[in-house]
Amino acid sequence: MRENGQLVYHFGPGLNEGSAGMSRLLGGKGAHLAEMASLGLPVPPGFTITTDVCSFFAETGGSFPSHLRAHVESAIGQVESELGKTFGDAASPLLLSVRSGAPVSMPGMMDTVLNLGLNDTTVAGLAAASGDERFAWDAYRRFVHMYADVVMGVHSSHFEAAIEQARHEHGAQHDHELDAATLRDLVATYRQITIAQAGTDVPADPHAQLWGAIAAVFTSWSSERAVVYRRHHNISDSLGTAVTVQSMVFGNAGNDCATGVAFSRNPATGDTSLYGEFLINAQGEDVVAGIRTPLPITRDGASAQGIREDITLEAQMPSAFAELFHTCTVLEQHFGDAQDVEFTVQHDKLWMLQTRAAKRTAAAAIQMAVDMVDEGLITRDEAIARVNAGSIDQLLHPSFDTRAEVTVLGYGMPASPGAASGRIALDAATAVRMSTDDAGAVILVRAETSPEDIEGMIAARGILTARGGMTSHAAVVARGMGTTCVSGCSDLQINMTARTITLAGVTVSEGEHISINGTTGAVIAGMVPTVEPTMSGAFERFMGWVAARGGMQVRANADTPHDAQVARAFGATGIGLCRTEHMFFESGRILHFRRMILAQSEASRLDALAELMPMQREDFVGIFTAMDGLPVTVRLLDPPLHEFLPHPGEDLAELERITGMSEREIAAAADQLRESNPMLGHRGCRLGITTPEIYRMQAQSIAEAVVTCIEQGVDARPEIMIPLVGTSTELELIASDVRSTVDAILGDYIAQGMARHVPVGTMIEIPRACITADEIARTAEFFSFGTNDLTQLTYGFSRDDAGTFLGEYTKRQILPCDPFQTIDRAGVGSLMQMAVERGRTARESIKLGLCGEHGGDPESVALCHDLGLDYVSCSPYRVPIARLAAAQANLRAPRAHVRAPRFVSGAVEPASV
Ligand code: PEP
Ligand code: MG
Repeated sequence: MRENGQLVYHFGPGLNEGSAGMSRLLGGKGAHLAEMASLGLPVPPGFTITTDVCSFFAETGGSFPSHLRAHVESAIGQVESELGKTFGDAASPLLLSVRSGAPVSMPGMMDTVLNLGLNDTTVAGLAAASGDERFAWDAYRRFVHMYADVVMGVHSSHFEAAIEQARHEHGAQHDHELDAATLRDLVATYRQITIAQAGTDVPADPHAQLWGAIAAVFTSWSSERAVVYRRHHNISDSLGTAVTVQSMVFGNAGNDCATGVAFSRNPATGDTSLYGEFLINAQGEDVVAGIRTPLPITRDGASAQGIREDITLEAQMPSAFAELFHTCTVLEQHFGDAQDVEFTVQHDKLWMLQTRAAKRTAAAAIQMAVDMVDEGLITRDEAIARVNAGSIDQLLHPSFDTRAEVTVLGYGMPASPGAASGRIALDAATAVRMSTDDAGAVILVRAETSPEDIEGMIAARGILTARGGMTSHAAVVARGMGTTCVSGCSDLQINMTARTITLAGVTVSEGEHISINGTTGAVIAGMVPTVEPTMSGAFERFMGWVAARGGMQVRANADTPHDAQVARAFGATGIGLCRTEHMFFESGRILHFRRMILAQSEASRLDALAELMPMQREDFVGIFTAMDGLPVTVRLLDPPLHEFLPHPGEDLAELERITGMSEREIAAAADQLRESNPMLGHRGCRLGITTPEIYRMQAQSIAEAVVTCIEQGVDARPEIMIPLVGTSTELELIASDVRSTVDAILGDYIAQGMARHVPVGTMIEIPRACITADEIARTAEFFSFGTNDLTQLTYGFSRDDAGTFLGEYTKRQILPCDPFQTIDRAGVGSLMQMAVERGRTARESIKLGLCGEHGGDPESVALCHDLGLDYVSCSPYRVPIARLAAAQANLRAPRAHVRAPRFVSGAVEPASV
């Protein structure tokens, strides 16, 4: 931190030192409040303490820079002069709020304290100045509760029990029915609770309150829930949070006051109409925490939900509503993006407390991007850059089959779309345990969620809550994560003692199944079958722009004609990996496959192969036909043998019959084949070397399938790929055999121009292959990086077993992420770069692709672009994600301008222009 650097930035009508571009320093909240104030929008004045102070606070174990105090005092002075009130003044006290605001939004993860400045003296001043004693004591009661909870660590439940008791004694249903005297008594009770629990009272000195709150907010940056959230969303710990101190406005000062949140467009669907929720006579936290169920702000919103229109903000407070509507339009135009705002109405006057780019579902993101292009607000390229490639996964998941007979038990709010079935878990820890114990799908069912539930929410397939609305914690967090969520299902009763839930008279126990539809809000009994998604409307137009942006091709990994069709429908431009061993998993085939691997003589192996060949040929015809005119990379057999050997205790009668071997002979043969490290064993081309007839049979099937395709008028374009090559000699031997087999069948067709040349290439998935890529490229016509094995072998992490410790590695930041999900740029990426460079020295035109699981990961796709690969290949449902990621990489560094990648301390440097 710079010595004497500016640590505090004021915002407000008189002086405005920040702007939207300063989020890194002022956090999203502080930067955008400043920007709104600059636009002349109604923002209560205040100031923001920078994220630099958070870093200093964390590094020094909780101290502040020496000059911070003076900066804060002078900023308070500025607010006081703008409002004509004094912090701590007995007659007309200025009250302040203290809120967190990180550079990247982390909703609900950090702390807030409101109504700072209240004590036994100033509460009287507030009562006199507002003419409302009840309001003043309610504000004081809220302050003591929040301060004791957030700053002094007294659990909220103590205060909730006390107010519940007061409600009970006074026959009140809601807090706002409690009168001034009761609230005054509650303040006394709260303070006694605080003294009993924390050993000391809430400080009376407003300045002590303020510094306590500032320290608490900085501390909350390192709270467990905030850390878990950052891990999940890949947010750096080093960013820190800013603290915004702002003069209070009150949505709870009477029935002409309100508080709410609004989205300039619908965050679930992308619909262009203003959307939001509010509560009359309430403070902001009541909405976010889901304590009271909020009402829609617009008449249209109410009618869509079948709610009376006269209770909307539009009907109740028309002038504040009109100003909100106008403000949202101004903000959208100014930022060129949909906004999510927090507002308060105090005595019919609108105040803006926050604006930020609205979090949205993937469907909404695409709808908004397409609409904004049509409205001339953004360009197509901006639309492409704006949609998070990983998030469109949400659009590609199945939904419930509408033909299924379902028993709808009730409805809540359709908070985050999708369809989820799973076993009920009633708390976060149980959800985590159930999801890992038996890898089952879990639906987390809670009265309402709170940030403490974050790990359970991450683990759950779906989230169902009894309370809260579309903007409550569960809804906001689930939508951000793309997890299906139904919130505010008010008929739902949860019995934590019996560990059951009851809805519509039906009681279901924890561990039993339930289904939720996040698109309609339905809660359904039991499991429900799902159907595949289809691309349509805005999505199709958007993907059309993505295709036009160019960049790497995207192929699919597919082993069946059906998967090939799905991939093609999602825009795959070929198949980058057809794993032929997957063609033998079916029960009718695995027998012959087992017979082949258990064969004790060449003759019996040839017999088994003869059985398998027609099946292979038929499959190839199906796949080539589905991909008519597009390349299909067929990988010759690479079976980790243990996946195919009989399992102990399995019924072997059929295998005995077909092989003519006894049970003992089968067991002995299987024992001989069993390996200690099957991933390093007799796999891939090693099998081709020791048993050349297998690859010969496969090459023959491919070539004969091409002939069938020619007869049927299908343009088949196979490419033959040899797996697990580590030396050029392995490849030379196998490629020569494969080429002569193919030539014997297709030579004449090729000579007559009826068939195409069949390229023979190799997987690059062994580090030695990267290092000797120039030698290998003399034989290989193409390379396809098998980054699953390349990662396994580069790290020495077994693909099958690394899950047991990788979680610990990422949690402790030994690794930034799971290298089997996102390519390790520094290690695996450097090996790939070496292979690219060396491969091209031997064969300039060599085609380069990738077919490991990383092909559907946006960050890995970007690396492949930077390395200059021609294509990536991924599972069919991830094809649109990869296409978008490839187009975004091409926007960042257009293909024609991509520099040759270069090493930077061993890591491939991301390309830039
Ligand atoms: C790879 O290793 O990345 C690959 C695609 O092959 P497989 O996963 O079949 O080993
Ligand atoms: Mg592999």
